Amino acid sequence: MSRALVWFRRDLRLDDHPALQAALKAGHAPVPVYIHAPEEEAPWAPGAASHAWLERSLRSLREALRAIGSDLIIRQGPSTETLLALAKECEAEAVYWHRLYEPASIARDSATKAALKAAGLQAESHNGALLAEPWTVKTGNGDSYRVFTPFWKNARQALDGNTTHGAPTSLPTVPNVHSLDIDALGLRPHAREGGWELGFWRHWQPGEAGAAELLEAFIDGALHGYKEQRNFPDRTGTSKLSPHLHFGEISPRRIVAALQSARVPAKSQPDLDHYYSELGWREFSHHLLFHFPHTSNDNMNPRFAEFRWADVDEARLAAWQRGRTGVPIVDAGMRELYATGWMHNRVRMVVASFLTKNLRYHWIHGARWFWDTLVDASLPNNTQGWQWTAGTGADAAPYFRIFSPVAQAEKFDPKGAYIQRWVPELAKVPGAALGEPWAHGDLLQRTAPGYPRRPIVDLKASRAEALAAYSGPKSLPHD
Ligand SMILES: Cc1cc2nc3c(=O)[nH]c(=O)nc-3n(C[C@H](O)[C@H](O)[C@H](O)COP(=O)(O)OP(=O)(O)OC[C@H]3O[C@@H](n4cnc5c(N)ncnc54)[C@H](O)[C@@H]3O)c2cc1C
Repeated sequence: MSRALVWFRRDLRLDDHPALQAALKAGHAPVPVYIHAPEEEAPWAPGAASHAWLERSLRSLREALRAIGSDLIIRQGPSTETLLALAKECEAEAVYWHRLYEPASIARDSATKAALKAAGLQAESHNGALLAEPWTVKTGNGDSYRVFTPFWKNARQALDGNTTHGAPTSLPTVPNVHSLDIDALGLRPHAREGGWELGFWRHWQPGEAGAAELLEAFIDGALHGYKEQRNFPDRTGTSKLSPHLHFGEISPRRIVAALQSARVPAKSQPDLDHYYSELGWREFSHHLLFHFPHTSNDNMNPRFAEFRWADVDEARLAAWQRGRTGVPIVDAGMRELYATGWMHNRVRMVVASFLTKNLRYHWIHGARWFWDTLVDASLPNNTQGWQWTAGTGADAAPYFRIFSPVAQAEKFDPKGAYIQRWVPELAKVPGAALGEPWAHGDLLQRTAPGYPRRPIVDLKASRAEALAAYSGPKSLPHD
């Protein structure tokens, strides 16, 4: 039987794995391979939280492969040379993988494909990560989209022809070639504060089984009411599938198939549609980064090239990073992030608005911190999320997006349950005062002596300054 390498990257699953299925269909014995080469993704090589997740996800994949007779061969990069060497050692005649859409990965994969072909190997890439790949969704003029609503109107047609493949139940054994131990990859960021990431695992189960459990729980629970409940950070109102989607432990097609076959009552139909549209935002982010690859570092809207961002004060930046700004909803979000590797979407928008509008720091400073600490750090989604909130992104009207952290807390955390969960020193402050505790005389002094008395920046004055700066001629939105 001929052999083919199946190169696993951010598709760490066996279910609905088109590259693996294609290798099997072509009659090859698949040899699953993971090659660790983070530097090839520079300048956005995976951050510490991503590596911590990856370590566990690789273990889970290797176990799943071993359970069906195969194994995961682990090597360290460079990818092209490693694949060439491994193909020789295994006497493989083909290499299969799933496409990635970030600029550095595209450049690497193109070079790898050319080198494999030049060496006489068959090299085949497939779509394993998206409902609709970026070049398949075009405007009437054949252009790429810049605005979500028309993009999704078009792209959502992919929901109709959705197909999936189950996981193989057995695979041939792999040849006896050298494979690294996962520990040798040094993925655990234990140096940071004596095991900073260890607390994550109370909240997450990396790997395919963890993803499947969350999907099932979502379909039985939070899906019903999602449209409304997704905005409230103290509730289980969303699927929490983002890290699993990022690492490809579940495919978006599997999610759609499960939703399509679930019996969703008519009253939950708007919730279902809304959930599809959030998957649509993920598709849109990939579309934008693919067509505008410079945007991971530069503003999408060129008018912001000379925008007057404030100089970064390291102490203030650190206060934001570690949840010591004196604005309870911001601090709660930043502490949730540091404790769990994840933050609720509503609060991501609030903390990002605080950094880019109230402190008026360039969004890249926030994007970098998120990149290092999020377990779902994804270059397309993170770039799009930061540029959207900063108002430098694809669509217009940045003025309306100066979130008031006070109003947001009052509306979406009215009893302060989320704030008090993540900022325990505010436990004695009455819920209704948690939006703006500094405005209640000596309340903070009496009830929360360890918490900053005032925000690190005056919210009203900084909002006015941001509005003035954003309405200046250098930043007028274009369409
Ligand atoms: C400043 C900022 C940075 C962000 N950085 C990231 C990031 O690095 N990685 C990431 O996956 N998401 C990012 N998001 C988007 C969003 O916050 C998360 O996808 C969401 O909170 C994940 O939780 P969930 O899986 O429960 O989402 P659900 O509400 O259950 O949504 C289902 C899935 O849809 C996708 N999705 C939902 N909202 C968005 C969105 N606004 N943009 C793109 N995809 C979306 C995600 O894959 C998510 O898992 C960012 C948002 C902001 C405002």
